[in-house]
Amino acid sequence: SSSRSAVIIIGAGVSGISAAKVLAENGIADLLILEASDRIGGRIRKESFGGVSVELGAGWIAGVGGKASNPVWEIAAKFGLRTCFSDYSNARYNIYDRSGKIFPSGIAADSYKKAVDSAIQRLRELESDCVVDVPNGAELPSTPKTPIELAIDFILHDFEMAGNCLGLLLLTVVFKHMSSNYSRDSYNYNAEHVFLCMDLGQVVRELQHSRNGVTVQTEDGFVYEANYVILSASIGVLQSDLICFRPPLPRWKTEAIEKCDVMVYTKIFLKFPYKFWPCGPDKEFFIYAHERRGYYTFWQHMENAYPGSNILVVTLTNGESKRVEAQSDAETLKEAMGVLCDMFGPEIPTATDILVPRWWNNRFQRGSYSNYPIISDNQVVIDIKAPVGRIFFTGEHTSERFNGYVHGGYLAGIDTSKALLAEIRKYERENESKSFLL
Ligand code: FAD
Repeated sequence: SSSRSAVIIIGAGVSGISAAKVLAENGIADLLILEASDRIGGRIRKESFGGVSVELGAGWIAGVGGKASNPVWEIAAKFGLRTCFSDYSNARYNIYDRSGKIFPSGIAADSYKKAVDSAIQRLRELESDCVVDVPNGAELPSTPKTPIELAIDFILHDFEMAGNCLGLLLLTVVFKHMSSNYSRDSYNYNAEHVFLCMDLGQVVRELQHSRNGVTVQTEDGFVYEANYVILSASIGVLQSDLICFRPPLPRWKTEAIEKCDVMVYTKIFLKFPYKFWPCGPDKEFFIYAHERRGYYTFWQHMENAYPGSNILVVTLTNGESKRVEAQSDAETLKEAMGVLCDMFGPEIPTATDILVPRWWNNRFQRGSYSNYPIISDNQVVIDIKAPVGRIFFTGEHTSERFNGYVHGGYLAGIDTSKALLAEIRKYERENESKSFLL
């Protein structure tokens, strides 16, 4: 079967939905969202676990309390989302070694200062482009080596505990307000009085584009025609071969896509019959210092969000994330229990349930979020965002200022649809006699 729309949006994550909303509000009613999975939200994804709902993807509204307000925070406030404040600045005073001893605060503070200094030094070296000449066998004085240094280095770089960034736990999907009337049966939902059309379970595999429009083909053999397409698939998906472009994307585009790094960030949830970890105002986060960098380093209890839930969350990233994705959950549980026994002793109860998200192996995600190398120039993100003919690009990875975040995706959707609206208006001016929809 085949149908034609003015605009097809690929992906029902936050960027695709915010793009759809802006288009609809500006008179483009004839639009269709095609989503590969069977749900909306993309990387904002909650799941039931241990009797509560946990966020497998985005959990924090970052940067709240700065000069400019985070738009996602405004949405959360407007719709009365239950939020809960997290302050990770105390985590550095809850660092355990392998024998379960907490590092004295003086040592922790010294190691922390050393790690920050070394991060600043590395950044300066990168910025000044100077080549550091390391004599054979010698190590840079700033390289983290001991378990505590490795743990702090991990938190600073992989966990993104940047400056005085504040975190807030997001307990419901951000666009709750858009999806309240959402019904799986009709595949339609009401976004604040704007009616959007959506097909779920439609995996786009091919985009054939010309000066006249775009033909979209799905895995199940459905064919859709559109005047324009907005593609919100993640940078990891763009780097994979899921979507074939005919003609192929130009070289400047594929090169830019290759230059952007994909980060993997995994929150593993563990449910226990009872609590055995310390609670209290400064104990929400704790750290495990191991010789292996990033080995079950960063822990959080969920008592602040859900008192009595007896759930712990441990965060793994990149290499460690890929490693646990490839093994069974039973093996991961065994490793996590080993680490917890190191910290709290052998008498602690075994977790009764474990949840291990697999963002890297999910072919509609292929990672958790984009990361532009520190020394890459702005041209990379500009090229990633730039349209190719009638295909427009959106998603968190197209946000120049906030890539990697929900608000990055939200703002990118608005930006892309505004750029498309300008293009449509231009087309209409130049072709006064022809209607845009033909
Ligand atoms: P997505 O949400 O990925 O939406 C794209 C959609 O396109 C998906 O639904 C996908 O299924 C669909 N799709 C892909 N390919 C196809 C295809 N071929 N055909 C049809 N549909 C397709 N951000 C924060 O602000 N705070 C946090 O605390 C935070 N923590 C995070 C933790 C984790 C574990 C992860 C994974 C992400 C986190 N993020 C966080 C990042 C945030 O979730 C993302 O930046 C944001 O949700 C991305 O939105 P998007 O619309 O760009 O992409």
